[in-house]
Amino acid sequence: MPRTIFVTTALPYANGSFHLGHILEYIQADIWVRCQRMAGHTVYFVGADDAHGAPIMLKAESEGITPRELVARYASERPRYLASFHIGFDHWHSTDSPENIALSRAIYRQLKSAGFIARRTIEQFYDPIKGMFLPDRYIKGECPRCHAKDQYGDACENCGAVYAPTDLIGPYSTLTHTTPVLKSSEHFFFRLSDPRCVAFLREWTTGVNGQGEQHLQPEVQAKTREWLGRAADGDAHLDDWDISRDAPYFGIEIPDAPGKFFYVWLDAPVGYLASLQAYCEKAGLDFNHLIDPAGATEQVHFIGKDIVYFHALFWPAMLKFAGRKTPDGINVHGFVTVNGQKMSKSRGTGISPLRYLEIGMDAEWLRYYFAAKLNQHVEDVDFVATDFTTRINSDLVGKFVNIASRAASFITKHFDGELRYAGDTDALRATLSDTARSVQELFESRDYSRAVRRIMACADDINQAFDTAQPWVKAKGIRTADAAQKAALQDACSRALAGFKALTVMLAPVLPALSRRVAGELFGEGDSYCWADAAVLPAHIAPFKHLMQRVDPKLFDALFEKADAAGGADAAGTAASAPGGEAISATIQMDDFAKIDLRIAKIVDCSAVEGSDKLLRLSLDVNEGRPRQVFSGIKSAYSPQDLIGKLTVLVANLAPRKMRFGVSEGMVLAASHHDKQVDGGIYILEPWPGARPGMRIN
Ligand SMILES: [Zn+2]
Repeated sequence: MPRTIFVTTALPYANGSFHLGHILEYIQADIWVRCQRMAGHTVYFVGADDAHGAPIMLKAESEGITPRELVARYASERPRYLASFHIGFDHWHSTDSPENIALSRAIYRQLKSAGFIARRTIEQFYDPIKGMFLPDRYIKGECPRCHAKDQYGDACENCGAVYAPTDLIGPYSTLTHTTPVLKSSEHFFFRLSDPRCVAFLREWTTGVNGQGEQHLQPEVQAKTREWLGRAADGDAHLDDWDISRDAPYFGIEIPDAPGKFFYVWLDAPVGYLASLQAYCEKAGLDFNHLIDPAGATEQVHFIGKDIVYFHALFWPAMLKFAGRKTPDGINVHGFVTVNGQKMSKSRGTGISPLRYLEIGMDAEWLRYYFAAKLNQHVEDVDFVATDFTTRINSDLVGKFVNIASRAASFITKHFDGELRYAGDTDALRATLSDTARSVQELFESRDYSRAVRRIMACADDINQAFDTAQPWVKAKGIRTADAAQKAALQDACSRALAGFKALTVMLAPVLPALSRRVAGELFGEGDSYCWADAAVLPAHIAPFKHLMQRVDPKLFDALFEKADAAGGADAAGTAASAPGGEAISATIQMDDFAKIDLRIAKIVDCSAVEGSDKLLRLSLDVNEGRPRQVFSGIKSAYSPQDLIGKLTVLVANLAPRKMRFGVSEGMVLAASHHDKQVDGGIYILEPWPGARPGMRIN
């Protein structure tokens, strides 16, 4: 039966570029989507930027731009990354879109009329200096349960406790480092405490979808069981969920509640539906039919382990009690680690996906590597350079690609590209078909590492059969015109190439670009394969062209961000030093430095910028015959009158930047500790006496 499946990945927060964890998730979902499409199922695969909330608002403010400008900057990079890693989303949208605004409000109204919205006045932390209620993430303090220091206001990273910021011991605002005060405000709540919620979630979290699969992986189910409580129905309850935030907030205003906005986590998952709706409008599909709760569409989400609470409890409950379709599966993956540790720039183990591409590493290497490590459990995926090299060079190139390069040369040279199989091919086709079916099932159940092992075991068998046939010995038969030897050679090579084609079909979800080339250029069989093609024996081949490069281990020197300048310290397992809270950046050459034109500048005027609590407007004399205007985020450290008349250092050839308050023509240099908790100070540079405006710094 053909299935219709609606697949999403978690929406990346639009205050930064994609990191490797996003790419892991997209690759995991993309492989699954391609596997389903190869089986003839219809899949709608969509993503979107998560554009709302306080962090985006505050970051935009610090840069002197609007939140929409900030979001647009990151949104503009997305297509390049996604295309480069062969992530085949049908559509990419934004939660700051008309569809999402309408859907979020509709869901809210449905929850409200079903009696699931409560209003009550609560006391909340307020930063009197900043003039705003503090989001949980901007309050830190001691965990009330395990007493770990510097934990966020919503949850403890040490013990996993979830609590209210007011439960923290010794709270402080991370925006101004002051102690917040309690202030009252009316908030809107989703009534998760309603017994119907617990009853529904108990059923849903342990439920099975139409494919007979659990909605949740066993370890995720165990976690939700903990949250929902093991006690008898009457005892268990969930706390109501605060879904509103007060202005100033970048988000969706709540209907009939001026100055109140939906908390970003309410409208973010609704973005899945908004993206599907926008795609339906583009593609002429019936959105309401697709999301009909009584319909046959399966709704499958791929997410990381850090957002299980929102997706396994809030999201299904929101949908259920708004009278909508609930998810059929939530697939949770772990994080990417490097050498068993969290990625860290200061340890020289950060990997940027863009840098990966820029230094010329093949996107399909990473797809294969992640596939070889992913399984259906919530386990971290560890990136180890030597392991990566081995899997690509020995397995993918050495076992798989080599079959084609070895066998194709005989066929091209002696048989004009024609494949011919001697005797019965039923057993061959049955073997390839069975293997492909088991691989398909493993991909379907997201056990990618076993699928890849199965494929490589099949490649071993094909290589072994080819070696046993001793084609190089049989090739001698060509010279002596031994017809039997010649037929045996053609048969051995044909079988190897049929095996190679089947392996290509099995690897197609992982290596879409390579499989397209094999199908089109090598076998002349169109531009894509379906699962059934694995057992269709190819009839001829074009001359073999190079398919995949080996990994040069030197590439890793350029891959890891901010590698230790002294070199080698990480490899030895010792902690890299991190003066000022961050490791010294990678070595540059004199030419690189010479590109930066640093000049002595005199601060002739300085004033506060209205509407910004970070920026000062500096007027700088660099002896150019006109003053330059530069904005600098040093307001917290200096008052304008301290700076007027002083000399400082200006990056004079930095491209001018248009900000909300005007154009900034350069940047003044200042020192700070990377970790603001250690030292939140900012220290502007001042030259020794004698330096004059316009002098270059070398
Ligand atoms: Zn704790």
